[in-house]
Amino acid sequence: AHRELARAHAQLAAAHRRLSEKASRDDMTGMLNRETFFATLERSRRRSDRGALLIIDADHFKAINDSYGHLTGDDALLLITAAIKKGVRAGDVLGRIGGEEFGAFLAGASEQEARNVAERIRREVERIAFHPVEGTAVPLTVSIGGTVCTAEATVSELMRAADRRLYEAKHGGRNLAIVDRPVPRAA
Ligand code: GH3
Ligand code: MG
Ligand code: MG
Repeated sequence: AHRELARAHAQLAAAHRRLSEKASRDDMTGMLNRETFFATLERSRRRSDRGALLIIDADHFKAINDSYGHLTGDDALLLITAAIKKGVRAGDVLGRIGGEEFGAFLAGASEQEARNVAERIRREVERIAFHPVEGTAVPLTVSIGGTVCTAEATVSELMRAADRRLYEAKHGGRNLAIVDRPVPRAA
């Protein structure tokens, strides 16, 4: 009876692990969901200062839905997801933080490393061959804003800094990655 109880306990623990693993992820992309991504970011910020945060947003995505429908839009989004996964390094943390917006936390990355990763993601997406209709090639691109973590910056400050770079990338013509060191606050 004792052994049965122990086995039931182990099974319950495993089921619990599977469930909470599932609840922490976005079903469509397999990336962390928004909540878990930010919680993970907070945790790794407490462990170390070094790292960079990227925000990746699909360009003119509404136009793809409008032209080809939402289901085809989903296909495009999955292709973009795969390209992002190809662009990052092992151990980088990916989250879906909005509908067609993704976060990448590059633990330990320097400014130059973060630029390289962002540029690799941008290029991988640009290379996607997307044919929603036979004979029609539709380009897929993303804009990326990124910032290097400093010891003082909170997660929301990092998000704001990365978001500002994303805005610049959008206004700079899209299909662009801009990663910067945050401007130090005036004393
Ligand atoms: P921008 O280059 O400025 O980012 O333009 P945009 O059209 O991508 O920006 P906007 O935020 O206006 O539109 C985002 C669109 O992405 C609208 C929304 O319907 C679509 N979208 C968000 N999540 C999903 C999804 O899961 N599937 C599909 N098919 N579309 C999605
Ligand atoms: Mg967009
Ligand atoms: Mg967006």
